[in-house]
Amino acid sequence: MKQELIKLIDLSRCTACRGCQVACKQWNELPASETHNFGSYQNPPDLEWNTWTLIRFQEYVDAQGRLQWLFRKDGCMHCTDAGCVKVCPTQALFHTEFGTVALNTDKCIGCKLCIFACPFNVPRFDEETKKISKCDLCQSRLQAGQPPACVLSCPTGALQIGAKDAMLAAAHRRVRELGGDASVYGEQFVEGTHVVYVLPEKAEVFEKLPAKPEIPTSIMVWKDILKPAGLLAAGTVVAGAFLHYITHGPKNPEEEINQEGGTQI
Ligand code: SF4
Ligand code: SF4
Ligand code: SF4
Repeated sequence: MKQELIKLIDLSRCTACRGCQVACKQWNELPASETHNFGSYQNPPDLEWNTWTLIRFQEYVDAQGRLQWLFRKDGCMHCTDAGCVKVCPTQALFHTEFGTVALNTDKCIGCKLCIFACPFNVPRFDEETKKISKCDLCQSRLQAGQPPACVLSCPTGALQIGAKDAMLAAAHRRVRELGGDASVYGEQFVEGTHVVYVLPEKAEVFEKLPAKPEIPTSIMVWKDILKPAGLLAAGTVVAGAFLHYITHGPKNPEEEINQEGGTQI
């Protein structure tokens, strides 16, 4: 491995300007989506095949009864023990020399196993190309010695990239400064993630952030049953519906509504 890197996201410094979200679209040439106003500045409502990072907006009443506005930059966590890499039958998803997880789209057969294996619900399926997509932590920029586009765009210093040890030290320093319920999130799960948060509140407070992310054991069983790759492709429709239910629960009707109509980012 060349040098293990971590992208540090200090949510206590994020103002939700969404510069990172726009920079990601611009650098990766990802088109906009039509969405609709669902009563939040969050737009689009969720990660999509063409939205690899998203600022989530959340209202929260703290223990003292104060209303707070919480923001969270969502996206791939670049796990060390990466469920997506483990189950991918064609090695389309792979670990890079920086410890991050990149994607070779040419190798993706659209079996969707990575979607079911991801404890953070990150990979998205492009219905047009029949392939998945996700953040690659700007692999080409890292190889050129450049910071990811989102990090470069952040005006508040909420995003940083650097050597693993230095970033973890910075994260813990910041948590000590913040005090209260602030914590470091990422290093303790899936053998350590290469995206690490400084959370200003307890992890349980943040919507759609798993308190204890784990690769679903069911997917590992199915992976072995459905080998080889040809069988995977054929079995995807039936297995996909079943696995989505057992890994993510029943479909939320709001999620369905959020796929439709409205303004552009
Ligand atoms: S967050 Fe999900 S998609 Fe990203 S590396 Fe981990 S398992 Fe893979
Ligand atoms: S690292 Fe690159 S691909 Fe990932 S969210 Fe940031 S800009 Fe997008
Ligand atoms: S660019 Fe920085 S401050 Fe703006 S939304 Fe992204 S992380 Fe937050």
